[in-house]
Amino acid sequence: MVRYMEQLDEMLKLFSNAHGVSGYEGNIGQLLKEKLKPYVDEVRTDKLGNLIAIRKRGYPSVMIAAHMDEIGLMCKYVDEKGFVHFVKLGGWFDQTLHSQRVILHTENGDIYGVIGAKPPHAMKEEEKKKPVNADDMFIDIGAKNNTDAEKMGVVPGVTITLDRQYASLGNNRVTGKCFDDRAGIVMMVEAMRLIHERKIEATVFAVGTVQEEVGLKGARTSAFGLNPNVSLVSEVTVAGDHPGIEKKHSAIELSKGPAITILDAGGRGLIANENVVKWLKETAKEYDIDIQLDVAEGGTTDATAIHLTKCGIPSSVISIPSRYIHSPVEVVDLEDVKKGAELLARAVETVGRHF
Ligand SMILES: [Zn+2]
Repeated sequence: MVRYMEQLDEMLKLFSNAHGVSGYEGNIGQLLKEKLKPYVDEVRTDKLGNLIAIRKRGYPSVMIAAHMDEIGLMCKYVDEKGFVHFVKLGGWFDQTLHSQRVILHTENGDIYGVIGAKPPHAMKEEEKKKPVNADDMFIDIGAKNNTDAEKMGVVPGVTITLDRQYASLGNNRVTGKCFDDRAGIVMMVEAMRLIHERKIEATVFAVGTVQEEVGLKGARTSAFGLNPNVSLVSEVTVAGDHPGIEKKHSAIELSKGPAITILDAGGRGLIANENVVKWLKETAKEYDIDIQLDVAEGGTTDATAIHLTKCGIPSSVISIPSRYIHSPVEVVDLEDVKKGAELLARAVETVGRHF
């Protein structure tokens, strides 16, 4: 059992410390391909960059999707003094970016930078009370001017991620960047390992999707190409169990098992198919897996794109509760990842009874 948790810990560390913003998920696709290869018959990358691993075992077919991209930044231009101005890729809360150390992924290799802004010493009292907009931040890479920055490989289009290493907290809880959705990636890999080891008879498409954070793009094209009978998205969801958030805003808690999405974005994103929810609830009950039911007002996932593909694909989401989502210090419980993988694998095992 301890060994099992160590493996999950190692894998999440690997994926969390790796870098890949929306549109530049190649590194993650490479890692994911290596992990999935032993459990599937075929792995390929489609034209948009989605990593598609196929385990063919007759009818019905289940698509499991986890997005490979992380929210990040991109160099917009470098000013005369060599400071890098950037655009945000994905849903950042601007204050999260203030004073972070970043990595710029240039053609010549990775270099460090820091996100700078006006120091409080130079602010008027009123200014200090206000949040600083990302627009008023810039990246200092140590360049003396823009030609110097160019020599360092920093030109418009260079992608930028936060420099934050994975670390363990107490009670199997861990922290790192982009657990959204690398924890979902790990849960999908673990599920595929279980499906393989248990020789489960159902066709599974395990898909690492691209560009989720900027409009659920890869999910749309990969689901169209695969046209599965049913789909489950492997994700993280907002935990509401810490100071500053009330249960009525999120009733999901860490360490209480994976959450099944009933509805997200107040119904404007996904209203999960009733039969899918029934299937997941019954499976959890049969195999004694703790679950939570997620009715969410904000945020959405790849399932929103998938369920509207072709003539409609019944879908829901299995999520790992995560604190501080879209920050570099997201926190999850590895036990929840383990339980979520078990639920995904058992769901694939029982899918033939429901679809
Ligand atoms: Zn996500």
